[in-house]
Amino acid sequence: MGCNNLSEDDVVKEIRERVIAWERSNWAPYPWRVNRTPYKVLIAELLLKRTTRQAVAREYPKFIERFPDFNAIYNATLEEVVEAFRHLGLYKQRAVQLKRIAKIIIEKYNGEVPDKWEELVSLPGIGVYLAGAVLSFGFGKKAPVLDSNVIRLLSRLTGIKTKRNQDYLRLLWKLVPDKDHDLFNYGMIDLGALVCHYKKPRCESCPLKDLCVYYSNKSIKNNKNRDCLINIYKKLIKE
Ligand code: SF4
Repeated sequence: MGCNNLSEDDVVKEIRERVIAWERSNWAPYPWRVNRTPYKVLIAELLLKRTTRQAVAREYPKFIERFPDFNAIYNATLEEVVEAFRHLGLYKQRAVQLKRIAKIIIEKYNGEVPDKWEELVSLPGIGVYLAGAVLSFGFGKKAPVLDSNVIRLLSRLTGIKTKRNQDYLRLLWKLVPDKDHDLFNYGMIDLGALVCHYKKPRCESCPLKDLCVYYSNKSIKNNKNRDCLINIYKKLIKE
């Protein structure tokens, strides 16, 4: 698809549809992706920090069985929470963080995970990624989920290098659809991790390649198409 006749809305629509269609065929039923609740999503994402999906898939069901809600974590000793993290590394740090979150959620939010962006990002160690994941995957509310894989994908796709995550977050707010936002977010994370690989992107199997500035530079050497795409992404990323 050439860029010339495309508006910003067309590009947004194409990206949404292609990412969702790709994810429908590649969706992996990890235990934290089925039977989702805000609590389970938050726990899974904390476990997934610097740990492989395979390792978390083994440990997550045991963790949820031992600690089915924040009350259970609040009432457990730190040593008991440390023990539950033992097979995932960084266990002391993670256990301390989780105990701190549990204390706030029990004492300030009556045991319920808050459903507002500002409240989530104010919890200890919860950044924009986790806030978006809890909202989109846990509460079913439209929100962007910006992890390091998605940042890399957006940076290559748009050709825009920025150190300000706020820029990619603003772009992602525009890309995330109202309907199927969870599927879209999973798709962006999975595409970033599996296809737009950090060492070597597998562009030939990427559904976004003809909309991608990096691919345009690398494979087609089509400056017109690349410049047209850059223009569109620049407008989309603008405040
Ligand atoms: S075409 Fe290549 S560089 Fe562009 S988003 Fe896809 S995998 Fe990443």
